[in-house]
Amino acid sequence: DAKKSGKNQYKYFTQSLQDQVNYEMSMEADLRQALQTDAFELYYQPQIELRTQKVVGVEALIRWNHPTKGTISPLEFIPAAEKNGLIVKLGYWILETAIRQQTAWLKANVGSLKMSINLSAHQLNDPQFEKFFLNLMKETEAAPQNIELEMTESVLLEDSNDNLSLIKKLRATGIRIALDDFGTGYSSLSYLKRLPINTLKIDKSFMDDYDTNTGAIFIETMVNIAKTLNIKVVAEGIETLHQVNYLAAIHCQKYQGYYGSRPLNAQAFEIWLQEYNQKHFAMDSQSQTSA
Ligand code: C2E
Ligand code: MG
Ligand code: MG
Ligand code: MG
Repeated sequence: DAKKSGKNQYKYFTQSLQDQVNYEMSMEADLRQALQTDAFELYYQPQIELRTQKVVGVEALIRWNHPTKGTISPLEFIPAAEKNGLIVKLGYWILETAIRQQTAWLKANVGSLKMSINLSAHQLNDPQFEKFFLNLMKETEAAPQNIELEMTESVLLEDSNDNLSLIKKLRATGIRIALDDFGTGYSSLSYLKRLPINTLKIDKSFMDDYDTNTGAIFIETMVNIAKTLNIKVVAEGIETLHQVNYLAAIHCQKYQGYYGSRPLNAQAFEIWLQEYNQKHFAMDSQSQTSA
């Protein structure tokens, strides 16, 4: 009996391994095709300053418009693209699209919005990265203080490939570095002192617990330490007005989440922003014109 089930297990194992190989191969072919056919699109989610309620920036979040599967989440294909190396090429497309969008919105008076862009470790390890990025900044004439690169602590702490010295070099040009998903990895508060970061993004999992005693203590400790170190804080995954009021009360700088807006494509974001500004600041612009 044991022999029989052992045999079955072996069969299941090889079958699922084969499934995985098939999945990875078709995913890679699909991703290559998508890169060639412009099937990716950046969505933008507003970052809102709590003190003023102003939309001060956006985070670029990639979407894949698949011809048969519909919109595919980055959670599904970014890990695959990291594994097969396509993230490098895709990452260059993301950087270029997001930074050009930032300057386009500035020129079109949509707004001077900080553009936050997610970065994978593989991208930094590519020998062309520094040159590509600096050329792009020069060519687009984007203001460096309006460009923020988001990385998780695993990217920042991986010193095998000298990520830190590259990040310091990039930061010296005036761009900003954000530590993403803070609290979910090996996070130690002491990293905050060592890492060259300008912004701390508190992960949604912490914000979900804001209304418990320990939850609030964690959040307030992070906000206070960041303040001491002159690091800005963005609270992620904010879905309710209660959370917004809480964050304002503890002097957190910014929030991001469905309560502001879900991520939207460029065109939908422009419409959303116009409506948001009308709703919140229409009185201001009236008094300005009548003054
Ligand atoms: P992230 O960088 O931490 O992005 C935040 C994620 O939380 C986004 O998921 C966003 O849509 C989602 N989110 C925002 N507000 C709320 C909320 O109020 N409630 C809930 N439930 N979720 C909220 P998304 O767009 O699916 O992206 C998932 C992850 O995929 C990102 O996490 C990031 O790690 C990665 N990713 C997305 N775009 C890129 C990219 O262009 N490059 C790289 N390397 N990674 C990316
Ligand atoms: Mg992010
Ligand atoms: Mg995050
Ligand atoms: Mg994440």
